Amino acid sequence: MTAGVHIEDEGYMMTDMAHPFATAAMFAAGVFKFQKIFSRQKTLQIMVKAKDELGGQLTDTGGVRKILNKKDKLKLSRGYERAKEILKNAGAKDIFKTQYLAAHPGGTVKIGELVDSNLMTAYDNLFVCDCSVIPEAWGQPPTTTIIGLGKRLAKHLLGEKK
Ligand SMILES: Cc1cc2nc3c(=O)[nH]c(=O)nc-3n(C[C@H](O)[C@H](O)[C@H](O)COP(=O)(O)OP(=O)(O)OC[C@H]3O[C@@H](n4cnc5c(N)ncnc54)[C@H](O)[C@@H]3O)c2cc1C
Repeated sequence: MTAGVHIEDEGYMMTDMAHPFATAAMFAAGVFKFQKIFSRQKTLQIMVKAKDELGGQLTDTGGVRKILNKKDKLKLSRGYERAKEILKNAGAKDIFKTQYLAAHPGGTVKIGELVDSNLMTAYDNLFVCDCSVIPEAWGQPPTTTIIGLGKRLAKHLLGEKK
């Protein structure tokens, strides 16, 4: 994404999408729009990223399983309607939506539950510092937050002022 807007009261954000050929083709093929695979250069894409509620589970083999609830799906469809209007006003024809996917899993080792505010587990000197410690449904790109947490933990481990 190069730009985005956060529609906080409706629970989603919208951004542009600059995909390479392969992923754009995969998205189009995923909804049987095979004729769109070779018209990427004439296609304008908007991503709708919803803040879903906490839920789901990890499998024994390390996979992630999560089913979106009605509220989550409603946010996505509201976002789709808004995106459709924007595209229509921009002159787009034959507007379609692709399958949804998840990109920011987290919350499996929550701060305040399995790690303390310094990210330490119940075991002395065993820390967790990644997306899994974010305790709430996030709904925002998490990388800057994770880097911030990493820097803070580094200072803590070095005994420096945070
Ligand atoms: C398609 C996509 C687009 C995204 N776009 C954005 C974006 O624009 N902005 C943004 O902020 N975020 C974005 N994200 C989300 C972001 O990439 C992740 O939330 C973030 O990388 C999570 O960081 P992490 O450190 O928790 O986990 P990861 O970055 O997944 O790091 C986990 C690491 O652990 C390693 N690992 C796993 N198992 C083991 C093991 N058993 N032993 C040793 N190492 C292991 C993995 O190889 C990996 O390097 C996107 C994610 C996806 C999938």
